[in-house]
Amino acid sequence: MTPLISIVAPLYNERESFGPLIERLNALMDKLPYPVEVVLVDDGSRDNTADLIRLTALSDPRYHGVLLARNFGHQTAVTAGMAAARGTEAVLIIDGDLQDPPELLEEFYAHIQNGYDVVYAVRRKRKEGVLKRFAYSTFYRILKNISYVDIPLDSGDFSMVSRRVVDIMNKMPEESRFLRGMRSWIGFKQIGVEYERSERVAGVPKYSFKMLRRLAYNGIFNFSEFPVKFIIRTGAFAIGIALIYLIQTLVKKYVFGTVPQGFTALLFVIILFSGIQLMALGIIGEYVLRVFFQVKGRPLFVVREEIKDGAAGAPESMITYK
Ligand code: UDP
Ligand code: MG
Repeated sequence: MTPLISIVAPLYNERESFGPLIERLNALMDKLPYPVEVVLVDDGSRDNTADLIRLTALSDPRYHGVLLARNFGHQTAVTAGMAAARGTEAVLIIDGDLQDPPELLEEFYAHIQNGYDVVYAVRRKRKEGVLKRFAYSTFYRILKNISYVDIPLDSGDFSMVSRRVVDIMNKMPEESRFLRGMRSWIGFKQIGVEYERSERVAGVPKYSFKMLRRLAYNGIFNFSEFPVKFIIRTGAFAIGIALIYLIQTLVKKYVFGTVPQGFTALLFVIILFSGIQLMALGIIGEYVLRVFFQVKGRPLFVVREEIKDGAAGAPESMITYK
């Protein structure tokens, strides 16, 4: 039976949480009136997670196993799951450690049925250490300030997206993926639903500090031009300072006659040329940015609706490339 909804869960060395995960998902699917599939993606686990997925998917057709050839990282594993998902209406993305309660599926789906395309979960509070919480919250606030898309605060990958959003995300070929940013970039009607993030059922976090840092960089560099703008502005600022310094020195020299010889000219030249060099780097950066955004191959825009020949309807091609 073709599933209405796919639940995508990436798993990396999740041997300990596998049992509880399947139990919760079975209980959920048993009570839902429509067909649901669960896409379990093994992200190159080194424990027996892949075997567990294989056994589950072989014995229960509601489970759909995708075993990656190596560890590609969480964002890519979710991408693989979304590509494999067959749900005709929507895809629910959850973590495999049960931190995201799959039972919210019904509430999320109600929003999808009401015309929303993205229902993202907003963490009411985190049950992680103070330091991690602080790092997360700072990162999201910085990103919100410097990004050119509106990425909601305190929302992660836990979300439900409609079939058309899945199709669009599957057509976004960018290599360094920041799914929550891509999801926001697409647009349509999006809504946040608050929830309390649970603790991991078992095992330890699989995201290392390095992986988190990479994710943060992907967010900043894929969804903000700020780093390059910052170089240009700093350069312009230095040039401004140099000019003010020049004027001040000339005034001192010709009005008061109190300028030390040699030193002033040197300082002026250093500040001026540092500024010019920064500006030049920033200008090169602007070209690199343009190449970067072009190379990402994102569609230029996403069409929500088209009204033509006196009738309104979904556009024939949802995505229009250049
Ligand atoms: N995960 C993955 N590949 C990785 C790292 C993590 O598929 O390289 C999965 C992991 O198994 C879990 C989810 O991504 O289902 C979230 O990871 P984790 O719980 O470590 O992250 P946290 O909840 O600490 O942000
Ligand atoms: Mg987790």
